[in-house]
Parts: sequence; C-alpha cells; structure tokens
Amino acid sequence: MKINGFVQNTPVVRKVNGNSIRIKNDFNGHDVIGDNHIATSIETPMREDAFVLSDEQKMAIIEDRFRDIMETLGLDLTDDSLSGTPHRVAKMFVREIFYGLNPGNKPNISVFENKFKYGEMLVEKNINLNSTCEHHFLPIIGKVHVAYVSSGEVIGLSKINRIVDYFARRPQVQERLTVQVASELKKILKTEDVAVVVDAKHLCVSSRGIQDERSSTITAEYGGVFKETARREEFLKYLALD
Ligand SMILES: [Zn+2]
Repeated sequence: MKINGFVQNTPVVRKVNGNSIRIKNDFNGHDVIGDNHIATSIETPMREDAFVLSDEQKMAIIEDRFRDIMETLGLDLTDDSLSGTPHRVAKMFVREIFYGLNPGNKPNISVFENKFKYGEMLVEKNINLNSTCEHHFLPIIGKVHVAYVSSGEVIGLSKINRIVDYFARRPQVQERLTVQVASELKKILKTEDVAVVVDAKHLCVSSRGIQDERSSTITAEYGGVFKETARREEFLKYLALD
C-alpha cells in the first residue's frame, strides 16, 4: 500500500511450489521518480532478501504473476500461441535479461602483466549494449566505448564486453550503468585511469511517451588521466574514427 509515495512495510507471504514464503516488503520510494530517469545510487537498489529464493522459485512466481497480467489484459491463455508465454518470460527475466542482478553471475576476470610495456591508452569501442530501463521495463539498446591506461596490468579485450553485459543485464538507469562499469574496471585494473562512454536508445522514449525515434542518450565517466582535456579529446577522436 502506498502512503505519500512510500510502500508500507508489510511482510508479504507468497506460495511457492506449495510452500509459504514470507518476504519482507521494505522497498520504499524507488517508484516515485518515474519518468525522470534519475538514478538514486551507484548500487542497484536490491532487497536484503534478494537471494532467499532460488532461480527456479523466482521463475515459478514470475510465471504465475505474468499469467495474471496477460489474463487481466483479456488474453486467452488457452490459445497455443500464448500458453507458453508466461513461462518464457519468467525464464527470460531470471536467466537472460536480468541475470546480472545476481552477484554469483559476475564474470570471473583475471588480469595479466602488461609485458609489452604499452603505456598509451587502450580503447575498445562499439561494445554491444542490451539493457532494460528500470522505469518502464523496455529495452535500452546501444554501444559502450571504454578506454584505460594500464597501471601494469591488462585484461583480455572480450572481458570488457562481459563486464558491460553483466551490469547491463539488470533493470537499469543509463547513468548508473556507466558508473558501475567504470568503477568495476577501475577495481579490476587497479587504476583510476578509465573512461566509459555509453550511447544508447531508450525504447521508452522512442516507442511510447514522447515517441522520439531519433534521440539517443550519451553518458560518460572519466577517471584519472581522462579528466585531462587532452586525454579526453584523444579518446573521443578515436571514437570518431570509422
Ligand atoms: Zn524508461
């Protein structure tokens, strides 16, 4: 129950495979920022009991609830084309588009010694981005560009893609995604010298609401040497190259 935009702190009991599971409902406030697409914190807001349920239990609940949504919309779930949808959506949420909510799915990244003594910036651009807007549950699709200057360690290039994908596969806000990717790379590479630019289209902007199909959203995080104008301009010049 909502009171002044806050959700009342009432425990919820859910039936999962015949067992009653008590879930404390202590979420508050995150639903009130709505269309403004403002991130509340660098961390994805998660419940304390986020991993009390197994993936299978979560899928069973989501399947039930999604069937309710479809039936509420008036759809006939006995139709062959629709009958499998609640299960498909539940599996897709837990195992694919939101797998990055679970820290257990974080990619294991090993670093290597920078044997070539390469001291300039390394740029990886046009990394595929598939995420989901947390305010509308519609896709965010775009590209991520990353640069870093090695402090003595390097990572495999494909690992950067895996880090981007992990943080993208959650209900997200683009600003938070940008900061989360940058902060993870800083941690792994043991340097502040990391830059991340995200250029993405939000389907909640292009396919509903204002229905602006041409606009895209650009966010950037510049750490260490990338705060210097010359370095930043060098990075942006590489991004402009075909
Ligand atoms: Zn949205």
